[in-house]
Amino acid sequence: MTFSTDEAVTAVAAPAQAGLHFTPFPPTKGAARDCKKLAAVHVDRATPGSIVGGSLFETMKASSPRRAADAEHGDWMEKHPSALTWFEAVLGAAKGKQIVMFLDYDGTLSPIVEDPDRAVMSEEMRDAVRRVAEHFPTAIVSGRCRDKVFNFVKLRELYYAGSHGMDIEGPAKQSNKHVQANGEEVVHYQAGREFLPVIEEVYRTLTARMEAIAGARVEHNKYCLSVHFRCVQEEEWNAVEEEVRSVLKEYPHLKLTHGRKVLEIRPSIKWDKGKALEFLLESLGYAGRSDVFPIYIGDDRTDEDAFKVLRGMGQGIGILVSKFPKETAASYSLRDPVEVKEFLGKMVEPTNGDGPVKAA
Ligand SMILES: [Mg+2]
Repeated sequence: MTFSTDEAVTAVAAPAQAGLHFTPFPPTKGAARDCKKLAAVHVDRATPGSIVGGSLFETMKASSPRRAADAEHGDWMEKHPSALTWFEAVLGAAKGKQIVMFLDYDGTLSPIVEDPDRAVMSEEMRDAVRRVAEHFPTAIVSGRCRDKVFNFVKLRELYYAGSHGMDIEGPAKQSNKHVQANGEEVVHYQAGREFLPVIEEVYRTLTARMEAIAGARVEHNKYCLSVHFRCVQEEEWNAVEEEVRSVLKEYPHLKLTHGRKVLEIRPSIKWDKGKALEFLLESLGYAGRSDVFPIYIGDDRTDEDAFKVLRGMGQGIGILVSKFPKETAASYSLRDPVEVKEFLGKMVEPTNGDGPVKAA
């Protein structure tokens, strides 16, 4: 198989599923609508070089890739509008409901960097997350192991779902102000415990194999392994995957998934960020309640499981962090961690009146 870069336009999302979400989509913006109008133009066949219907887009793409990319982006933004631009709509949908915040870490709270050990979050971002957690139950849901992501975030008042949610722990007792919902004081769950020895064995094997490929790194995330190839020469990317696949042949109970310049190996049990979201809602006593409004923000393919759960529930919203069109089940988008911070800041602005900031 081949890898696409994270900057690549992978696909244009299908139209948002009607009826599953909270609100009719915000009105389309002028520029994007113009792009649609343009694509719908019907030019007479008799005219030299004429174009009929949708083929204009293809022609335009061939003659002006830049303009075509802009049109594609506009179209995508219409389906997944900016959560900042449409902040009032988000607030309106959440009004009177209990917001629960779910935040991915890498690429959402911290910028993507070459060395995953240096993916630190800014002090301003930490402040924004801290303030959000003062108002709403807040969970970090990450592919990394729980300890590692805690060491980056360093906020005891949050829930942490590490290893794609296979390892979940609630806030320290004394800083836990949101657990009254079901009376439980600490949430602790480990879905993949029996896989620990196998993961350890594969970690050792893969670390040895990757020594031959410059730049490749195997990260041990307790319940899953991440093989980073961000620093590997592009022509060797396939070699990385082939090595990983050949090791995994011996382990049918482990599966391989792709993230941003990373291959991830984890137990093939049905557990993902979507399950983590459901588990946390349940632990907080919110399962089956219609007055709960989960907001999930993430940038990666593994976050799609959580976006899909929200679509299925017909409650809350998913926000994809991406500068580029990507196939996603999220309703809204934010461009980068800077916009995530801005969004979090707006969530707790006192000027939001009787909006969701005052939810229980
Ligand atoms: Mg991420």
